[in-house]
Amino acid sequence: MSISLPFAPGAPWQRADRTALVTALCETETLIRQAQAVQGELLAEMQSRGVPQTFGYADVEAVVKDVIHCDRPEAKARVRRALACHEYTEGTHRVPASAPATATAYAEGAIGPRHIDSILRTLAEIPGTVPEEERLGYEKILADLARESPPAAVDRAGRHLLARIDQDHLARDPAEPPPPPARELNWAWNQDRQLCFAGRLDAVSGALFEKLLSPLAKPRPGPDGERDTRPADQRHGDAFAELLDHTQRAADLPTEAGEKPALLVTMSFDHLRGRRELPLLNGDIPVPVNEARLLACDARVIPAVLGTSGEVLDLGRETRLATTPQRRALGLRDRGCVFPGCTRPSNWCQAHHIVDWIHGGPSDLDNMVLLCGMHHRVIHHSEWEIRMADDGMPECIPPPWLDPARTPRRNHTFAPIAPDSG
Ligand SMILES: [Zn+2]
Ligand SMILES: [Zn+2]
Repeated sequence: MSISLPFAPGAPWQRADRTALVTALCETETLIRQAQAVQGELLAEMQSRGVPQTFGYADVEAVVKDVIHCDRPEAKARVRRALACHEYTEGTHRVPASAPATATAYAEGAIGPRHIDSILRTLAEIPGTVPEEERLGYEKILADLARESPPAAVDRAGRHLLARIDQDHLARDPAEPPPPPARELNWAWNQDRQLCFAGRLDAVSGALFEKLLSPLAKPRPGPDGERDTRPADQRHGDAFAELLDHTQRAADLPTEAGEKPALLVTMSFDHLRGRRELPLLNGDIPVPVNEARLLACDARVIPAVLGTSGEVLDLGRETRLATTPQRRALGLRDRGCVFPGCTRPSNWCQAHHIVDWIHGGPSDLDNMVLLCGMHHRVIHHSEWEIRMADDGMPECIPPPWLDPARTPRRNHTFAPIAPDSG
């Protein structure tokens, strides 16, 4: 038994006309999907016969992950699709396919894995009290829609369907409490040391998410009023990072092993001089030295300096962090981010050390200023400088390319309104 392709890699596409290219796009996609559907049949058969166990694996997922070298979430998704689309044996009884119309469309190559995931998500949320015949009717509606629409449209139809089922359900049995909100979040690190995630929130949490994120994601003009050039997705990402940073400084955050969650950055003396291997975040995520310095500046990260044999020379903990009274004093003095023109109030700010702890800068009020996450990064990674003026207030010195005279600037956003002299 073999699956053959009508095209071979290296076909003379440069001689094909435009129509042939588009036709080939459709044909190859159908083939890819059909091959995936065939793979689903194999996985269901492996599940039925307990093949993984005979090779020493715990389950089909483990085989997929190990044999085709994919990530666990991908292996999990493939098995989930396979078992929903194909009948299999469990113990002594046959488990029928829970999504037969979807399986047919998949086998024809009419829908792809993302469509299936969308349909299965909706099916999983249909209450168990809905009769099987009715459930299969909904599945058919979604599978038919998927043949002609992108997955996002299937997601949307699924949400509408569930809302309608909920309403019918409540009308039928008002005594039964509504099910708890369905939410999920999955994440994995990629090879570029970025955390990728996917998930979903119920309507209420989703609305809250948007509400919290949207003011933080607004374009933020530069100190001279220049336009914020970040694209929307980047602004959303920055806003989300800011939200996480803010949450970490919340007073009533739950603890783990008696401690509030804190990042730990370890570096050796060689790291500090910019040589040798990179500093490590939480023991295994390498970060560039200047990034580690930025992290170590604020109380949310515990820095540890290691000697040549790995002994801890300085856990920098007690002396380095801004204490709660200091944070309050900083909030009273700076009111918010001290960067010119910034509007982030103090509870959204990090305590930046003008002379950093690595160079012996103390955690005194005179050596600390409040900066929002974005401007903290600007100060660490650009030629902007901060100093304490004679009146005890912080001021920012622009880089020479922005202002050759380097005239100090202050943030007047939070300045008290001067009493009317007239
Ligand atoms: Zn800093
Ligand atoms: Zn700022």
